[in-house]
Amino acid sequence: MDHCRLGTWPVPSPAATPGDNGTVTSLDVLHPRLPSPLDEVVDDRFARFGVRLLLKRDDLIHPELIGNKWRKLAPNLTAAAGRTVLTFGGAYSNHLRATAAAGRLLGLPTVGVVRGQELADRPLNPSLARCTADGMRLHFVDRSTYRRKTEADALAAILRAAGAEEAYVVPEGGSNALAVLGCQALGQELRGRADLVALACGTGGTLAGLAAGLAPDQRALGVPVLMGGFLTDEIRALQHTAFGGPRGTWTLDDRFHFGGYARTTPELEAFATDFEHRHAVPLERLYVAKLLYGLLTLVEEGAFPRGTTIVAVVTGRPFP
Ligand SMILES: *Cc1c(COP(=O)(O)O)cnc(C)c1O
Repeated sequence: MDHCRLGTWPVPSPAATPGDNGTVTSLDVLHPRLPSPLDEVVDDRFARFGVRLLLKRDDLIHPELIGNKWRKLAPNLTAAAGRTVLTFGGAYSNHLRATAAAGRLLGLPTVGVVRGQELADRPLNPSLARCTADGMRLHFVDRSTYRRKTEADALAAILRAAGAEEAYVVPEGGSNALAVLGCQALGQELRGRADLVALACGTGGTLAGLAAGLAPDQRALGVPVLMGGFLTDEIRALQHTAFGGPRGTWTLDDRFHFGGYARTTPELEAFATDFEHRHAVPLERLYVAKLLYGLLTLVEEGAFPRGTTIVAVVTGRPFP
């Protein structure tokens, strides 16, 4: 395919992989709304405690390459330099949908390796149907193979079976060194704008980059949506591969996963519906609703001194 039309930009960091002409291509042709908007929301539940709340609207960066998926994928698509992009995800993965959309928009072939061999024999759910409509080729693997996908020989076998041995491979959730570097820009956009920047975490790649981009007097707070508590080590490891060591000040609060990924409760659902009505912001339920619920709880616990300004990152929006 012709990727010259994407234009060029300088290689952003030592970790970036240049294309064969020594440059990497830019996604500016897709006209992302960057920096993304930063909007204050007036909410008396926060105001009562002297806390200002602003929303960083990364969900408005691009209608199809949404939120942190834009920030993480953009440098990887550039590095792929026209090769097939292969990545991994579950049956409802936001990352798979974003990769498929990017493939259609940029004319890149994409392959999605989906967890769950049994899904191959069923009608596609709406999320996977969207992926194939965008031209993504789906390759289903059983759960034990999927678990081993970061081991070199297991990955090689998956690529062979998928007929994609030459593909540019993006890890599950899209979090590699380039993705973390892409998310550093999110932190840089928020310098001088907040005392605390909060966001929901899956792999932690967005937090790893965001924390590195903030000013020294700012800190980041991550709200993991998965159960398990391994995230601190994973974020450290991601910062190590992206920057060579720890960066920024960040902590995690593990209390707001609501039972794990994609789990919800009537209380969370009621909170999210109410927040949408108050502020006319659509709340993505798997991540963003848990973040805002967690923030309100922390405010009501008196966790922040009066005069604190908090930015909550709206990392995505509801599907469809
Ligand atoms: C993927 C996703 C995340 C998780 O990002 P990580 O970098 O994996 O922590 C957060 N919010 C939304 C809306 C997402 O789609």
